Amino acid sequence: MDFRFTEEQLMIQDVARRIAQEKIAPSAEHFDRTGEFPLDNIRTLGEAGLMGIEVPAEYGGAGMDPVSYVLAMIEIAAADAAHSTIMSVNNSLFCNGILTHGTEAQKQQYVRAIAEGREIGAFALTEPQSGSDATAMRCKAARQADGSYLINGKKSWITSGPVAKYVVLFAMTDPEKGARGITAFLVDTAREGFHRGKTEPKLGIRASATCEIEFADYVARPEEVLGREGEGFKIAMGVLDAGRIGIASQAIGIARAAYDATLAYVRERKAFGAPIGTFQMTQAKIADMKCKLDAATLLTLRAAWLKGQGQRFTAEASIAKLTASEAAMWIAHQAVQIHGGMGYSKEMPLERYFRDAKITEIYEGTSEIQRLVIARSETGLR
Ligand SMILES: Cc1cc2nc3c(=O)[nH]c(=O)nc-3n(C[C@H](O)[C@H](O)[C@H](O)COP(=O)(O)OP(=O)(O)OC[C@H]3O[C@@H](n4cnc5c(N)ncnc54)[C@H](O)[C@@H]3O)c2cc1C
Repeated sequence: MDFRFTEEQLMIQDVARRIAQEKIAPSAEHFDRTGEFPLDNIRTLGEAGLMGIEVPAEYGGAGMDPVSYVLAMIEIAAADAAHSTIMSVNNSLFCNGILTHGTEAQKQQYVRAIAEGREIGAFALTEPQSGSDATAMRCKAARQADGSYLINGKKSWITSGPVAKYVVLFAMTDPEKGARGITAFLVDTAREGFHRGKTEPKLGIRASATCEIEFADYVARPEEVLGREGEGFKIAMGVLDAGRIGIASQAIGIARAAYDATLAYVRERKAFGAPIGTFQMTQAKIADMKCKLDAATLLTLRAAWLKGQGQRFTAEASIAKLTASEAAMWIAHQAVQIHGGMGYSKEMPLERYFRDAKITEIYEGTSEIQRLVIARSETGLR
């Protein structure tokens, strides 16, 4: 077992860290406060190859491996989680599915602009009445005599929905078949029949725009089906497996930022005539924070490594996401506590880390769903 990173992996980590520190960290408070979409920063990330890290160079990406993706995501998330949310949707949820299931023409048409960060991609699975149980979706795609599909229905909580150029959409083509009746489509948001709803006001990751989208007689051409008709659910689950490595990395970035701030604070802040870091109760918290952070990082790198080797990684991605997101929430909570009143103040980023950490336990499969995936994989029972 080799715990060292390659030169290429260290290089992309370095590029991400530089942009994170020079461009994203100084503007994070502004974007969190205003909820503005950080388009300029996203373009910079795209120019550096960070919007399509695993996308081959021929389609506009950096052509790197999943471990590189983890390292870059951690750096961006440590500066601002909302930026890493946008980055993870472009990389994992949008590009990854098309690279795995798309035709050559689809890869050429949809991946390049997104991987280069010139355009934004989105992934639309969730609906107002169906999140964890995606098979309960109602958005319908009815095949017409000419082979095209007429799409009608609503999707909710779509990250980057307000700004996306293209959307990977999942809709029911045959409701009687349940999961096998779902098909994936590549949607152009400039076309008639596509509508955006209001932007969701959120607890955290406030600069990552999220909205409902609606389809009213949107016409998808046969060549805009991703994979084959009826394969949509399988495609969505595969994409989410990979996506969970990204969310685990995001959680690690948030946790690391909260941990680093805490380490600095416990050395400086004094109470009862001594730095608060000399109190055993604080030391126990620091030790537990460090153990959870390292465990989350190693589990996430394991999942990414397996993916890079072309091996199965479904359970490992869920283990990584569950461990990292719960670690991030716990670490951010302790970090606020250790900062006392300053942890609760908007003058420091601790309360932002605390708000941002929560989403990692919810999207791309809640913690309950991750436990279900892991237990099913362990027991073989459904
Ligand atoms: C900020 C944000 C961004 C998002 N971005 C996207 C996006 O880009 N694209 C997209 O498609 N979706 C997106 N989502 C949706 C997200 O993936 C869902 O919110 C999530 O999967 C949970 O679904 P739900 O909200 O419908 O909750 P529900 O599925 O209704 O779950 C409610 C509660 O019940 C629990 N539960 C459900 N089923 C079970 C079970 N079998 N066993 C035990 N507990 C269970 C859940 O864990 C949860 O605690 C986003 C959500 C948010 C908040």
